[in-house]
Amino acid sequence: MTDDVTHILTGLNDPQREAVTSEHGHRLVIAGAGSGKTRVLTHRIAWLIEVDHVSPFGILAVTFTNKAAYEMRSRLETLRGISASGMWVGTFHSIAHRLLRAHWQEAGLKQNFQILDSNDQYRLIRRILKELGLDEAKWPAKQTQWFINGKKDAGLRPQHIETHEDAFTHTMVKIYAAYEDACERAGLVDFAELLLRSHELWLNQPTLLRHYQHRFQHILVDEFQDTNALQYAWLRMLAGKSAHLMLVGDDDQSIYGWRGAKIENILRFDQDYPTASTTRLEQNYRSTSNILNAANGLIAHNGERLGKDLWTDSKKGDPISIYSAFNEIDEARFIVGRIQDWFNNGNKYSESAILYRSNAQSRVIEEALIARNIPYRVYGGQRFFERAEIKDALAYLRLVASRDDDAAFERVINTPTRGIGDKTVEQIRQLARADKIPLWQAALNMTSSAGLTARASNAVKTFLTMIDDIAAHLNNLELYEQTEHVIHACGLYEYHKKEKGEKAQMRIENLAELVTATRQFELDSVEGAENLTPLQAFLSHAALEAGESQAGPAQDCVQMMTLHSAKGLEFPLVFIAGVEEGLFPHEMSLEEPGRLEEERRLCYVGITRAMQKLYLTYAETRRLYGREVFHKASRFISEIPEDTLEEVRLNAKVTQPVYSRAGMTAQRGAGTHFAAAGQPHKLGSTIQHKKFGQGVILNYEGHGAHTRVHINFDEVGPKILMLSHAQLEQK
Ligand code: ATP
Ligand code: MG
Repeated sequence: MTDDVTHILTGLNDPQREAVTSEHGHRLVIAGAGSGKTRVLTHRIAWLIEVDHVSPFGILAVTFTNKAAYEMRSRLETLRGISASGMWVGTFHSIAHRLLRAHWQEAGLKQNFQILDSNDQYRLIRRILKELGLDEAKWPAKQTQWFINGKKDAGLRPQHIETHEDAFTHTMVKIYAAYEDACERAGLVDFAELLLRSHELWLNQPTLLRHYQHRFQHILVDEFQDTNALQYAWLRMLAGKSAHLMLVGDDDQSIYGWRGAKIENILRFDQDYPTASTTRLEQNYRSTSNILNAANGLIAHNGERLGKDLWTDSKKGDPISIYSAFNEIDEARFIVGRIQDWFNNGNKYSESAILYRSNAQSRVIEEALIARNIPYRVYGGQRFFERAEIKDALAYLRLVASRDDDAAFERVINTPTRGIGDKTVEQIRQLARADKIPLWQAALNMTSSAGLTARASNAVKTFLTMIDDIAAHLNNLELYEQTEHVIHACGLYEYHKKEKGEKAQMRIENLAELVTATRQFELDSVEGAENLTPLQAFLSHAALEAGESQAGPAQDCVQMMTLHSAKGLEFPLVFIAGVEEGLFPHEMSLEEPGRLEEERRLCYVGITRAMQKLYLTYAETRRLYGREVFHKASRFISEIPEDTLEEVRLNAKVTQPVYSRAGMTAQRGAGTHFAAAGQPHKLGSTIQHKKFGQGVILNYEGHGAHTRVHINFDEVGPKILMLSHAQLEQK
């Protein structure tokens, strides 16, 4: 035993220390937000390696995001001062991916299989619906995608699904089977498949399973409350009879029920492993007592809970600020203003986070940040690897790496346009289907038969030759040189260069950024990279990463993300935007009590990210998904204990009642704004200006002849005008 273990044990309270130093065995750590669960997990690993002399090779740690995996590695490195290499740390997906790369043959995959992300999967399903002659109006691709992923998450292949003579299920299963076929032919593996396939791999290859069971004597899982049935089965199988499990979670933070996560796994664990001990942690170290009380008060409204007490001895701190905005632009401006103040007071941008329920909310806030020149990063949503031009470039890289990649082939065969029309592509598809061959092969066959017109045949031939030429050119080039070459040789760069306008400029910049991304790419950031070429490793990285962080320099910047992706993280300053009925809780959850409780847990997750200061904002009118909606303040605000809240009033004189608790959920909404004297137009109403066109009244400032009006114009954006000169017309 190493003599000095203080560095592992300092900063742990008694129950944490007990969990970290306990004998080997199964353990469940079940505790509220910010109570140090992740800390316990990390310190336990350090303890195992340093004190119990467990080899890092014998440890498998599952985190919820790739970002969390990087963080865990670096925390361990600080804690232990040596590299944690050899240890497997990653998400379920990245670990399954690593396994399949190593054992592709046993798993029945092509060696150069590619990961199909959610967008590509959607597109592939649409194509299959078309091929099967199914009307998309009746068989929406999204719903089908949902069905397929749901079945895979439950461990079911088409042949396992009982249709009970039900016509609907029967068709769904048919689509599922056709989809599987297409993936098989093209060497594509979707996210759910990664897991299902590696589970089957173990089922079918007992020797291999025994090898891994023998290797991983310690399995540790963070955010256990969000594992689904398949992940749990996967864990149990790997653990076998001899491994020790440490599972860490919080039932109040289970937010992926809609995607099949099962809180019940927590209860099942106790039954499946009756010898397991349980640790409860009750002290929160993250937040001020106001923030913690707000969170506790909110979550108490849920019925189904394991129930636990969470307390803190930190100071009361600022109250939670509620801001009622007129519309989403006003909301964004408010948030950005507060962040600017925060920064001007000597704090960092990166200490602040803006959280929202729906990805679509980010754009307006991004624009407000850009207008003030504040750097920011978006996690999820409009993420770098999801942008059209990046996906095009990646598709070229994929096709170069694997000609069988049908999704990539489809994406780029006529992008940029090169005279290969829909009809030709359709013919290629038909042949591929008939002969059960990849699209590439079908295209090649067609150019040497009489199926196509001479023109089409030539265009296709040129395309195929171009890809082969590009591939031949890549030998001996560094990864970033390969990327650079591909982007230029395929015509993508030139194509956007010729386009005009800001958008095109952005695309060019993004493409350049992709080269930078490949240059900065670290091979060992991908689990199992030793079996891959750098290009394959990078493509896997891009596909796995698309769901999470965005590329970009490590610059001090505001963090933006959905509430879902904020899980496990913490920030001194947090904004939750759009806390409105219909948006948060989401309108789809309003009818179902179970879903509503999940929304409330999501709000609990959001609130408990904040360390020092929390703002909740909502807008009375909002343009979202292209339409205007009128929302009331969320019920969640009224469920937070009143004595932890404060309402933000505007500097300007506004005579309307900004915020009244009693009436908040009942009476607020459109029509409660009354124009005060000297304010001829209601706040939030639409007006017409001679020069600037149509706009929305955001605010009034000043008095009498000096009254200024803030207007957000549809065409030219926000302006402040002298009311007496503005000659506004009510619309
Ligand atoms: P979440 O439920 O949000 O995932 P968690 O339970 O995993 O939270 P951690 O992220 O591990 O909590 O810890 C929350 C914060 O409290 C971190 O900043 C951590 O460093 C700190 N912390 C944890 N335990 C202690 C302790 N014993 N003493 C001081 N600080 C602690
Ligand atoms: Mg945690």
